Amino acid sequence: MFEPLRGMNDKMGLQAKKMDLIFEICSEIFKQYGFERIYTPILEQTELFKRGVGDYTDVVLKEMYDFQDKGGRSVSLRPEATASVVRAYLNSGRHKSNPSYKAYYTGPLYRYEAPQKGRYREFNQIGIECFGLKNALQDAQIIEMAVNVLKTLEIEDFKLEINNIGSFEDRKKYIEDLKMYLSKYEDKLSEDSKKRLAKNPLRILDSKDLKDIEIVKNAPKINKYLNEQEQEYYSNLKSNLDLFGIKYYENPNLVRGLDYYSSIVFEITTDKLGAQGTLIGGGRYDRLLNILGNVDIPAIGFAIGLERTMLLVDDSLVERLDNTKKIYLVYNDNTKEYMLRVLKDLREAMCQVEFDFNPKSFSAQIKKADKLGYKEVIILGENEMQEEKIIVKYLINSSQEEITLNEYLSKIYDL
Ligand code: AMP
Repeated sequence: MFEPLRGMNDKMGLQAKKMDLIFEICSEIFKQYGFERIYTPILEQTELFKRGVGDYTDVVLKEMYDFQDKGGRSVSLRPEATASVVRAYLNSGRHKSNPSYKAYYTGPLYRYEAPQKGRYREFNQIGIECFGLKNALQDAQIIEMAVNVLKTLEIEDFKLEINNIGSFEDRKKYIEDLKMYLSKYEDKLSEDSKKRLAKNPLRILDSKDLKDIEIVKNAPKINKYLNEQEQEYYSNLKSNLDLFGIKYYENPNLVRGLDYYSSIVFEITTDKLGAQGTLIGGGRYDRLLNILGNVDIPAIGFAIGLERTMLLVDDSLVERLDNTKKIYLVYNDNTKEYMLRVLKDLREAMCQVEFDFNPKSFSAQIKKADKLGYKEVIILGENEMQEEKIIVKYLINSSQEEITLNEYLSKIYDL
């Protein structure tokens, strides 16, 4: 028997329903804030991610599923979606007439990581990207939208962490000083961080290794390196978050793992998932459009990890938020035509309807409906057919009523 590849999972039954529910809730919320759907290919040129995400990030250095296609092109399964959305936006040319664009996406991503709970090689994100404006009220609203998603999903115990990692110039100076400080402790750093020291020292800041954490405590902090504009921007963001009533924690060591971020970054974390506690990650990436398309268009985005969110959403929410009316039709050979007519009307009324393809006795059909979890059956015997009526039977208490189909349908439409 074949099994899925390591770090990749099938999702069926409740898991699949939960995944759909989370995406439906997100897309409803994102639309309320003016975002529209975007689809991009899962396979892209490897170079897009090298340039977009950064040559020296863990994602590009160690984790990409990259290979040559049959035409000898170097291609990769996308390890993240922002670079693809930026590429699509630039390709569309729409930025020439109106740079403002707000899009949301969902789909699988691939990273060759060491699998564990909450960390997979194939995982899904739901994310948004917002191009065209650098504005602290807009950014606060985007963070509020992420919080809104978690609250709607009834996830309560989370923490919003924010930081400003400065402009690229601010970071250059900061990285020099950070490298100098960390070099003094090189021997004591974890093996991973030793490797990061030369190429990506910022990553050492959010290392989970206890030795690294101790060294990082006294490392220089980025907030001392922010230029005046970024300092003001950061305090504007914070006062707008206050106005939205959003609680946040400033974490000067929050840097995010992908190179394209600058200025505001944020994460929403939980302590309910052990080491894989980041549910949502995002921030500004004002230089990425320049790197990929030579245009100066500011941008901000975030991504929600779907699998991690699924681990926190209560199973009961799936049923509680499902308001589809579910009906099982009970009939016999003589009333088959009437049943098919009723079926059509109910499906038009957006009900979920099933019936037995080989109907036995009414009581056998009702038993089957009960077993399948239906709470309401409609019985269609000869008498009902002649009078254009239906019998609605409620399986919870076995009560029943006889009404016309039209009466029943108008009740559904009034719901
Ligand atoms: P990133 O694209 O690394 O900023 O990650 C954004 C979000 O995607 C994280 O906060 C996680 O919720 C989720 N995520 C990232 N990597 C993985 C993974 N390997 N497995 C499952 N979820 C992930």
